This record gives sequence, structure tokens and C-alpha cells, in this order.
Amino acid sequence: MNAIHTCPNCGSENTHHTGVDVYSRIQEDDVGHHARVDRTGVTVDTNMSGNPSSRRDGLIIHLCCEMCDFTHDLTVRQHKGQTLLQITNIRAGADAP
Ligand SMILES: [Zn+2]
Repeated sequence: MNAIHTCPNCGSENTHHTGVDVYSRIQEDDVGHHARVDRTGVTVDTNMSGNPSSRRDGLIIHLCCEMCDFTHDLTVRQHKGQTLLQITNIRAGADAP
């Protein structure tokens, strides 16, 4: 199944990834690892404060729109055995991370 992700502000199909944060835990509620890949490079640490999942794994895809000046995040998080997708952090005129 394919789905085209659209801008939550203007509906354009032309969005671009600008960075990704990945959060991985060894087991539920455990310490974990965080990796960020963006235009400036790669960072790896154990800071789980931005994890969209409070207890499991998660990832954030940072996106910008080609047709308007909004940015937003697409999050993927584990919650009670389910994988949840959510659009968050919709911002006007914000610089890409
Ligand atoms: Zn847009």
C-alpha cells in the first residue's frame, strides 16, 4: 500500500524530509538510544526526551513543504502493541531542523 503524504497546511503533495530522529529502547521503559540525521550531520546520544512514545520506540520525520512556508513532523510511535502515525508540530515560517 502506498499513500502520498500531504502538507497539513496547504494540502500540497510536495513535501520534503529535512531530518529524522530515531528513538530505540532495549525494552519497555528502559534507557535507550537516540540518533538524529539532518542536513548538518549525524548525532547519537541517550537523550530520549523527544521520543513520541513515552515507553517504547518512536521516530520523527521532519518535513517542509514546497508550496508554503510551513514545516511539520510525522511521528511513528509504539503504543500497547500498535504503531501510531501522527502529524504534529505544524509551524509557519519555521526553519527546518
Ligand atoms: Zn504546504
